[in-house]
Amino acid sequence: MRAVVVEKDRPASLREVDEAFVGLADGVADGQVAVDVHWSSLNYKDGMALAGDPGVARVSPLVPGIDLVGVVSASGSSDFAVGDLVVANGAGLGETRHGGFADRALVEAGSLVAVPDGIDARRAAAIGTAGFTAMLSVLRLERDVRPGDGEIVVTGAAGGVGSVAVAVLSRLGYSVTASTGRVDERGAHLRSLGASSVVDRSELAEPGRPVQRSRWAGGIDSVGSTTLASVLAQTSWGGTVTACGLAQGSDLPTTVLPFILRAVTLAGVNSVDAPPALRREAWGRLATDLDLDLLDSMTTETTLDEVVALGPEIVAGRVAGRTVVRVR
Ligand code: NDP
Repeated sequence: MRAVVVEKDRPASLREVDEAFVGLADGVADGQVAVDVHWSSLNYKDGMALAGDPGVARVSPLVPGIDLVGVVSASGSSDFAVGDLVVANGAGLGETRHGGFADRALVEAGSLVAVPDGIDARRAAAIGTAGFTAMLSVLRLERDVRPGDGEIVVTGAAGGVGSVAVAVLSRLGYSVTASTGRVDERGAHLRSLGASSVVDRSELAEPGRPVQRSRWAGGIDSVGSTTLASVLAQTSWGGTVTACGLAQGSDLPTTVLPFILRAVTLAGVNSVDAPPALRREAWGRLATDLDLDLLDSMTTETTLDEVVALGPEIVAGRVAGRTVVRVR
């Protein structure tokens, strides 16, 4: 079988390995499922793993790929049968255990979800961790903020999480402002996803006072740092901002003032360790609330042979929307 492999002090490469390499020599234990991988996807985190970043690639050697979509070939779980089409996002894949950039994978049943009817394998990979995380962010936001409450800002909007968040929020009836560093290149596309306005990300990246003029009823942030601080500063009374990422930086230069003067909520979003019920809920909502034609419009395709070279591109912010990796 083929697998992209990252090793300490050795650049990532596509290699031939045997099944024992990914733990498949002795069948599957209780609670585990073997999957013939058909598709994976490229996420920011995969770019970090492909670069050997020890914050993501936490074991060596490692097959990266935090997402996989494929067909069950052997099952140690009553929840999944041979032949089922399944998706896995996060759950240590491509970080602490071998992930989706390989022909076959061994996965814990608790991290698998049956791909909902209406979503084919390629589109499930196009959604991937980024889309799943966008939906987790929407699920959290809509607990506090309803369409009609005011404008929702989405940062990193041309990226994977951001693009899906814009499309889903717009379909749900929220009025969305997309913040991007690529207004010229991606502005029209972000409007076609449903954004009512597009702003240059430099507006929000500028360090400022911790409380500013109210502009947003809520926000979905995937970049962190001064951008998240500005979003919090500009969120109106009682608003909620979700935080899932650090594309700009992991710092958060603000004070308690947005929380104590405006009752703003900062809500963390984590896809990696999401429990099974939340995974199923998010995937169910993706099946109903994401326009799959819009998903196609933000999707490009690559192969296992090419994905290694794309790693530095996504880390540099030069990849737009979602990239699916054809594995077989
Ligand atoms: P992408 O690379 O697809 O998108 C990130 C976007 O962030 C870029 O497209 C760009 O948007 C923006 N960006 C990049 N660099 C900067 C910068 N220096 N300043 C401001 N904005 C910047 O990544 P993903 O969408 O896959 O992931 C986004 C973030 O979310 C990553 O940090 C990732 O690790 C994290 N993440 C976390 C998850 C979780 O479970 N918590 C799950 C999934 C992702 P634009 O061009 O529009 O400006």
